[in-house]
Amino acid sequence: MSVLRLVIPSPLRQTFDYLPPAGMSEAEVGGLRQGVRLRVPFGRREVTGYLLAVRPHSDVAEGALKPALELLDPEPLIDSRLLQLCQWAADYYHHPPGEVFNALFPKRLRDGKAHQLLGNAGWQLTTRGKGLPPGAMARSPRQAQALAMLQAQHSVATTQLRDAGISPAVLRGLRAKDLAQECLLQQPAQPASSKPGLSLNPEQASIINALHNAGEGFSCHLLEGVTGSGKTEIYLQLIDRCLQHGKQALVLIPEIGLTPQTLQRFQQRFSASIVVFHSGLGEAQRYRAWEAARSGSAHIVIGTRSAIFTPLHQPGLIIVDEEHDGSYKQQDGFRYSARDVAVKRAQLEACPVLLGSATPSLESINNALAGRYQHHHLTRRAGGAALPSIHALDVRRQKLRAGLSAALVDAIHSKLQAGQQTLLFLNRRGYAPTLQCHDCGWIAECRACDARLTVHRRQRRLRCHHCGASRGLPRQCPHCHSEQLLSAGLGTEQTEEFLRERFGQWPIFRVDSDSMQGKNAMHSLMTEINKCEPCILLGTQMLTKGHHFPGVNLVAVIDTDAMLFSADFRGEERMAQLLTQVAGRAGRAGLPGTVLLQTHYPDHPAMLAMLESNYGEQARDQLLRRQATGMPPAGHLIVVRSDCGNADLGESFLRRLHDTVQADLPRGAALIGPLPSPMQRRAGKFRSQLILTAPDRATAQAAASRLVAAADTLPARGGLKWSIDIDPQDVF
Ligand code: ADP
Ligand code: ZN
Ligand code: ZN
Repeated sequence: MSVLRLVIPSPLRQTFDYLPPAGMSEAEVGGLRQGVRLRVPFGRREVTGYLLAVRPHSDVAEGALKPALELLDPEPLIDSRLLQLCQWAADYYHHPPGEVFNALFPKRLRDGKAHQLLGNAGWQLTTRGKGLPPGAMARSPRQAQALAMLQAQHSVATTQLRDAGISPAVLRGLRAKDLAQECLLQQPAQPASSKPGLSLNPEQASIINALHNAGEGFSCHLLEGVTGSGKTEIYLQLIDRCLQHGKQALVLIPEIGLTPQTLQRFQQRFSASIVVFHSGLGEAQRYRAWEAARSGSAHIVIGTRSAIFTPLHQPGLIIVDEEHDGSYKQQDGFRYSARDVAVKRAQLEACPVLLGSATPSLESINNALAGRYQHHHLTRRAGGAALPSIHALDVRRQKLRAGLSAALVDAIHSKLQAGQQTLLFLNRRGYAPTLQCHDCGWIAECRACDARLTVHRRQRRLRCHHCGASRGLPRQCPHCHSEQLLSAGLGTEQTEEFLRERFGQWPIFRVDSDSMQGKNAMHSLMTEINKCEPCILLGTQMLTKGHHFPGVNLVAVIDTDAMLFSADFRGEERMAQLLTQVAGRAGRAGLPGTVLLQTHYPDHPAMLAMLESNYGEQARDQLLRRQATGMPPAGHLIVVRSDCGNADLGESFLRRLHDTVQADLPRGAALIGPLPSPMQRRAGKFRSQLILTAPDRATAQAAASRLVAAADTLPARGGLKWSIDIDPQDVF
């Protein structure tokens, strides 16, 4: 008796066996294809499972097996390559396969609803309708007219019938007589076409050639090109070629709401069906986009992280833009890196994958240097504009007003007077990061996190930027009842206030997640900025995400020092990426730009590196240091985290895990901890972590398997949750 091995959405790291649905013949069971959905009983619920294999027998006693209830798809909706990708991801990330498979399907299909082809609604004749003699229905002229239209064509769009003056009631009348029925119009696949691209400069042309020569099969490419060097133009021309071969292109970008420009460039270049996946899509829209990608009617699929799991009819090219961006790593649940999954997917789909960035991750640079990726460079700005010059602005002993030194204020002033734009970067939103009592020293802290509350003066609230908690701004110190409450430190709101006082006659735009709420906020801001009237832009990291500000000609980083002393081993890499990206916003339209870094540490090695070498050189230096310390990408990391209402239970769970696997670790692997996480208490939970280091991927994987197997057997008390994170981003 055959059994069905299914992936079931459950937190368990295993597959489940079921008997075939009642009434299905052995031949039908044998014909079931991998990936079809089945409705099955699971505990007290009914869930949607996905078929992995039909097996001759089960390891479970046959009497203990339950039959599946219903086959939901005659044919799988997902092809075997994508299924293989999911199985790989579940293995590699040691994540429950059911949760990985859930990433594949839109909600409607996860819920077990029937799969529907998409098309526009239309009407066609029934068999009975087709049998009517011409000229029938003479007593009902509207119905006769509708029949005539339906007789002339196989099917007619509902909208076309309506335009001809045929009301829904007339059509319902025909349906009641079983003469006509509703149907879906299959959309004819429109061929894609594109407007001519820019004529490429020699660097760009040789990259396009190299990719062309690499052929249509799998190859992996890193495009390291300075900001504004024409990477996007390369993407567009590669996509054009891909579409000409009748294939689809998948483009991952870090953040869609923030980069309306990128999207616009795609839409302007191609007359093709482009679908976009982003968090703002409603369920129905998401389903349509998914189905268009799957059926092949979409030519270009653009999306953020999770779009890497979009089914594609004929993938021909995968692009990961700003490949260094932290948002490609999912930080909770299924903790995958969309960039790494993209490379694996390209391998399985046998198509090229291109990772592009002005500031590639050390992981990708390392892969390129090791010859695993082809490495391409764009060293100059495409429009001929010079790269900005970077200077430290020593602020020691200087009087700072809202964080700005007099020298910076003067520099801004002269830019404004010259009709130019300035961008100020301050990576802290709100008014001030601390509220303190001047009399007793009390500091406003979050009740649920090890964190201070940020003062938001305009909303008159204290807010926690880690758990979202918020309360009204107190008038008095809760401790000593003094009214001498001081806002300490600096946030964008405060600097904005100062700028408005000082530069009131010019427009000032604050760009942070508080001010940029709403779908079109960024879009209308960009329209304003692109007029290139003199103004000041003040913002957080949001400003660095792939925007072009052609009129910006001075960039200043207000609090560079905040980045200098990160505890994480990636701190320096992130600083170099962020500063290079911020700097890259300057001087794109001809005039050479200037970047000023305000600092108290002009001689700090990371500062000097920033001033004296470009990103590529800094990255190679850092890579040598990673090699010396065995940190990624030279070595491999895994983190097991515990999350518990009780700090001691979390630590002791990880301590027991440590002791259980310690004796049995593969050679070269080592455990560090357990230690409290960088922010131990967050949203009321205590977090601890156990870190595993390994010299190579195979050792790391072997160790991860042991950690998971051991953790599964340890009792988790007090609501403790544990998770494993392969190739974690934030560790120390
Ligand atoms: P990146 O993606 O590297 O930031 P873009 O592709 O956006 O660079 O190009 C930066 C600017 O240079 C854009 O305004 C673009 O239109 C222009 N550009 C790109 N390639 C060329 C080219 N070959 N000739 C002229 N201008 C170009
Ligand atoms: Zn006080
Ligand atoms: Zn909090």
